[in-house]
Amino acid sequence: MELLQPSSLEELDGGLPIAGGTEVVPLLREGLLHADRLVDISSLVPRGIDGTRIGAGATLAELEVDPQVPDALREACRLAASPQLRNMGSVAGNLLQATRCWYWRLDYPCRLHGGDRCHAREGEHREHAIFANDFCASAHPSDVAAALVALGATIRTTRRELPVRDLYRLPTEDDRSTTTLEPGEVILELDVPQTDASTYLKAMDRKRWAFALVGVAAARRGTETTVALAGVAPVPWLLDGSLDDATPLPGTAYKVQVARALVERARAAVA
Ligand SMILES: Cc1cc2nc3c(=O)[nH]c(=O)nc-3n(C[C@H](O)[C@H](O)[C@H](O)COP(=O)(O)OP(=O)(O)OC[C@H]3O[C@@H](n4cnc5c(N)ncnc54)[C@H](O)[C@@H]3O)c2cc1C
Ligand code: SF4
Repeated sequence: MELLQPSSLEELDGGLPIAGGTEVVPLLREGLLHADRLVDISSLVPRGIDGTRIGAGATLAELEVDPQVPDALREACRLAASPQLRNMGSVAGNLLQATRCWYWRLDYPCRLHGGDRCHAREGEHREHAIFANDFCASAHPSDVAAALVALGATIRTTRRELPVRDLYRLPTEDDRSTTTLEPGEVILELDVPQTDASTYLKAMDRKRWAFALVGVAAARRGTETTVALAGVAPVPWLLDGSLDDATPLPGTAYKVQVARALVERARAAVA
């Protein structure tokens, strides 16, 4: 395998982009990702924070302490991973992290790997989804993505601009991908509009360094509050209906109660 450090993004040359490497390196090591060529984009993607604009290469550690960043996003970053990972991990890499479903991570031939079964639905699924869990019951792990969806953030890539929520898609029989990013497309920048108030609350198995069982972001503009959740569906979940619409599995029914309590608290916090 070769590691390229090109001087421009035009020279990706079919290689796999790597920023902080906190996700790419473990996946390569476990044989879940395959690449002949890695392209280090860390010096090519913008990094700074300027008002509502955030460079896609900014680290979670930079975002969590910057007063220009809305509370929901700062808190989502602060509650993610460990200090070492937040120092290395970029915001774009966070948005594109793969599922933490252990069947997928242990390389079971499940639907997300192109197979014809969801092993989690039939097996252990305590950490899994309560919405859109028919085909694949994985739970999206990104706290940051939920915060950005609630905040109504947009992304600029080398090819287009899109709302963060449109970066994601539910996997289907024909296309097992959970993002809409095209091969060779690089995320350059985020635009995170200001809100009147925002917050991010996270239920975890431990107080630190754990993925969200349920994460709830709420953002208010005037009298309108938008709520988005992490850990409840294969993609970051915009709550535009009610938690009564959830379709939990036997082992995830508790998440509906947790989500209900956190949504209520988050709405009260931004009211
Ligand atoms: C033990 C552990 C615990 C964690 N806990 C949490 C948690 O609680 N909450 C949470 O939200 N996250 C958590 N994370 C995820 C962590 O935040 C991400 O691993 C990190 O942010 C990824 O950023 P990176 O720059 O290292 O990505 P990389 O590993 O460099 O890349 C990840 C993916 O993004 C692609 N990529 C990177 N940058 C770009 C770009 N600009 N354009 C296009 N593609 C790009 C890469 O090709 C790759 O597919 C955890 C990770 C670990 C390992
Ligand atoms: S939840 Fe998704 S990733 Fe996990 S076993 Fe089922 S299909 Fe695979």
